[in-house]
Amino acid sequence: METILNYIGGKWQPALNGSTRKVSDPADGSVVGIVTDSHVEDARLAITAAREAFLGAGTWRLTPAPLRAQVLYRVADGILSRIDELAELDSRNNGKPLREARCDVEDAAACFRYYAGLISAPQGGVYDVTDAFGPMHAFSMHEPVGVCALITPWNYPVLMAAWKLAPSLAAGNCVVFKPSELTPLSAAILFRIMEQAGLPPGTANLVLGTGPNVGAELAASNDVDMITFTGSTRTGQSIATAAVGNLKKVGLELGGKSPNIIFSDADLEGAVEWAMFGVFFNQGEVCSAGARILVQDSIKDAFVNRLAERATKMTIGRGLDNPDMGPLISAAHLDKVTGFVERAREEGAKLVCGGGRLSEGALSKGFFMAPTILDECRPEMEIVREEVFGPVASIQTFETEEQAIAMANDTRYGLAGGVFTTDGARALRVVKALRAGVTWINCYNPTFNEAPWGGYKMSGYGRDLGVNGLLEYQQVKQVNTNLRPGPFGWYTR
Ligand code: NAD
Repeated sequence: METILNYIGGKWQPALNGSTRKVSDPADGSVVGIVTDSHVEDARLAITAAREAFLGAGTWRLTPAPLRAQVLYRVADGILSRIDELAELDSRNNGKPLREARCDVEDAAACFRYYAGLISAPQGGVYDVTDAFGPMHAFSMHEPVGVCALITPWNYPVLMAAWKLAPSLAAGNCVVFKPSELTPLSAAILFRIMEQAGLPPGTANLVLGTGPNVGAELAASNDVDMITFTGSTRTGQSIATAAVGNLKKVGLELGGKSPNIIFSDADLEGAVEWAMFGVFFNQGEVCSAGARILVQDSIKDAFVNRLAERATKMTIGRGLDNPDMGPLISAAHLDKVTGFVERAREEGAKLVCGGGRLSEGALSKGFFMAPTILDECRPEMEIVREEVFGPVASIQTFETEEQAIAMANDTRYGLAGGVFTTDGARALRVVKALRAGVTWINCYNPTFNEAPWGGYKMSGYGRDLGVNGLLEYQQVKQVNTNLRPGPFGWYTR
């Protein structure tokens, strides 16, 4: 099996100390790839390559936006031309069902296309200012931030890479990208595609390695101007702390514990299906997962019965066989998720379905778990307060709209939230009251490249996607021009 290498300064190269690591398929533990395992010195090499490329004459930063856009359009085409390979790799490496992996690849291509288009739109502004200093013309222009470090998690390998690479490159930055050490395979293909699309050497650098070895150096380095990170809140906190040294710009897309509020007037069948999509899609390994289901008491039994009936019919298996749910990412993660369920039961939650590891027959070597529903959960329980990041729904009931809003906001996180009701005014009242960055009405989880994505509170700051996603990777420069050059009479002596 060929070792997948770092891509630094336009060259594919192994880690300086020659280390490698195996990457496995969570459906059966088989090895799907061998990748170089980088350390601090490789991260430094990549940062230097990015800085030299950024400061060099005639490089990406100075390439006119329409020409940068052409390269990004070619990247989008390249991604789609390898969709089968990329989807299969992400399905095998992450475990996700193949049809979901294909959607990720399509969305990743669309993300490059979106930012290619956006960078050609007008940037900056013109300001009508006073004539106190004589006639003046004021305008602002957008410039790249510099060297950006991009760090992503394992739950959407190719998609999270696109969310960060497309806007940062569109803005003219040079970047160092570190994917999760658990799912680095599709990133290597993405970098081949970017190389073939004509991205100049040093513009985008790939360093494969762990968080402590590579990620921490990217966060701390004084030669990095910005770091954007998607991952857990705890790692986000350590990155923000490390980034203080040179006051680099920081963007954090972190964890969540999002509420999904179902009112009694909602379309029950629709609410059930969207709730399943909210908490079981991608094995529940979704930052925005609607894991806290809040149901109005009068329909609670009907809702939970129907949810359980449909959840128990979901198919579980190897991602490549296109089940409804694949395996969780690792044995350690499966233990963590089932541990949450056990402790919830000890605290008094009622197990409606699922709950533990599935290991019969073809599932024996993988990290499979059934969709799990825990009823009769209370606000103080761990299962209601902590991010589980697995296919586990906790059910709580409420009587009034005010109660639902208070329960929904009773969390240190603020990534997302949903509301199901046929009362339009109530739907708007509730989403306005939610302290969360992404909200849904009568649906849960659809995400669009065009709209900004990010959290409130301990779910982080900054935004991916949309116009805001591009602005994150730009500095704004003010330019004030004197339209009548010469003395202006302030000093009279
Ligand atoms: P994680 O924080 O363990 O790791 C994420 C990335 O950070 C990996 O690439 C890892 O190698 C790196 N890393 C680890 N320690 C580091 C350090 N000290 N310095 C720098 N980098 C370090 O998270 P994970 O387990 O890969 O992903 C799951 C988490 O990601 C969940 O909490 C989930 O909610 C969150 N997530 C958030 C979003 C969002 O948009 N808000 C999207 C997807 C996932």
